[in-house]
Amino acid sequence: HEELLAKQRELETAYKRLQEKHLSLNMARGKPSNEQLALSYKMLDVVTSETNLILEDGTHCANYGMSEGIPAARALMGEIMQHPYDQVLVMGNSSLNIMYDLIVSGMLLGYDGQRPWAQLDAIKWLCPVPGYDRHFRILETLGIEMIPTTMTEHGPDMDEVERLVATDENIKGIWCVPQYSNPTGITYSDETVLRLAAMKTAAPDFKIFWDNAYCVHHLYESNQDHVLNIAIACAQAETKNRYFAFASTSKVTLPGNGIAAVAASKRNIDLIAKRIGVETVGYDKINQLRHVLFLKDKQGVEALMMQHARIIAPKFELVINMLNEHLRDTGASWQVPKGGYFINFEGVFCTAKRTVELCKNAGVTLTDAGATWPYGNDPHDSNIRIAPTLPPIEELQDAMEVFVVCNKLATVETLLKTNA
Ligand code: PLP
Repeated sequence: HEELLAKQRELETAYKRLQEKHLSLNMARGKPSNEQLALSYKMLDVVTSETNLILEDGTHCANYGMSEGIPAARALMGEIMQHPYDQVLVMGNSSLNIMYDLIVSGMLLGYDGQRPWAQLDAIKWLCPVPGYDRHFRILETLGIEMIPTTMTEHGPDMDEVERLVATDENIKGIWCVPQYSNPTGITYSDETVLRLAAMKTAAPDFKIFWDNAYCVHHLYESNQDHVLNIAIACAQAETKNRYFAFASTSKVTLPGNGIAAVAASKRNIDLIAKRIGVETVGYDKINQLRHVLFLKDKQGVEALMMQHARIIAPKFELVINMLNEHLRDTGASWQVPKGGYFINFEGVFCTAKRTVELCKNAGVTLTDAGATWPYGNDPHDSNIRIAPTLPPIEELQDAMEVFVVCNKLATVETLLKTNA
């Protein structure tokens, strides 16, 4: 107890010194840095008033039409998403927007000839935790009950998932970020993918929302993870209508100004295309063309992603080194990702909220504690998502100095309370 009190005094002094620096730093959201954005500014020059905007099939990119996306953009996204071009639709600027739309579509119109979900007494969804806060917000907003399920280093705990979906026909879907997951950074094992494809579901219209947001976001040229193609796994299991896969160029080119796509079985793609055709007379085809001319093909995407990696890998390494150096013996743990946008930090129980609060009061903004859990409710108050990409590396060093002191202080305070 005396040792803890002495440690607390020492940390409080260090904390005050950090507060005197009057920092204003942000590690809250997975946004690319300005340096990363600049990698794609040349894309803004590839379509000019001189560019031929009329495609081979006669489609005018500057006019209405082709709401399924221009063929070259569908082929490009198809290469990335491992689907043939006619099983891919390229839409607007946000994959999250498509996910929202497809859930609303399930609620109002239904899938696979089943009753629209909104007509049921309850709609439920499996949410592997920790997970992506915006996924959870869609469900919360639409009144869909979220069931947190355990995340392992190989993906969702499949024993738990199989048990739940086998008996409850109101469970209509699961969120999956299969590669470099947000926030844990893990990639699903082949076994996980095969079991997701093959599991027996009580709901005939159960859907896997396969959000492959980080499918090309490797941090290193070698030492990369790759996930099994969900289309192939589902085809083998004779469940090819079970999944919708998503990706976008938000963190390839320019977030908010990219192109987003959904890939699925031919039958599901035809259904979505029909429903989309009611919603819009066509997306921004000039932006689709801009992406095709700038990125060219999968190799073009991979080359650009390596330029991103050269900027962000040192930032990930800085965070991991700081955690290793300062928090190794505190009971906290973290994952070392090979790609994606986040580092998942698991503190001692009952320290996450306090850590985030202390950081905030020292000028460092983190993702809200609890955000990685449905309803913002982390039952252990232990999980924090660190997003290292946005700040310049010098600022990241300052931010991590604050983080480690705040987490240690929060841990000591908790230990003092529990041992009082
Ligand atoms: N899905 C995941 C897992 C993400 O982490 C993000 C952004 O952070 C998105 C989707 C958002 O993608 P988009 O910009 O295509 O809407």
